[in-house]
Amino acid sequence: MRECPRLVTCPFFNDKMANKPATAELYKQRYCRDDFESCARYMVFAKLGKEKVPGSLFPNDIKCARDILEKG
Ligand code: SF4
Repeated sequence: MRECPRLVTCPFFNDKMANKPATAELYKQRYCRDDFESCARYMVFAKLGKEKVPGSLFPNDIKCARDILEKG
């Protein structure tokens, strides 16, 4: 099984986000325990570091991740 290297500290995976979506468990299966490179949070983390990952960013919000990466 592939697991995201951020599992232990990621607020999304550890249910620390203010607005947990109903689909959170699905996202965990899809992203956190499989295709983590496609996760919006992971994309920002990998390129810019954890300080740049918004607390409210969901794994499927690729558009927001791209906007952040474009701005640097
Ligand atoms: S939400 Fe993204 S960064 Fe966080 S553990 Fe899951 S795949 Fe990794």
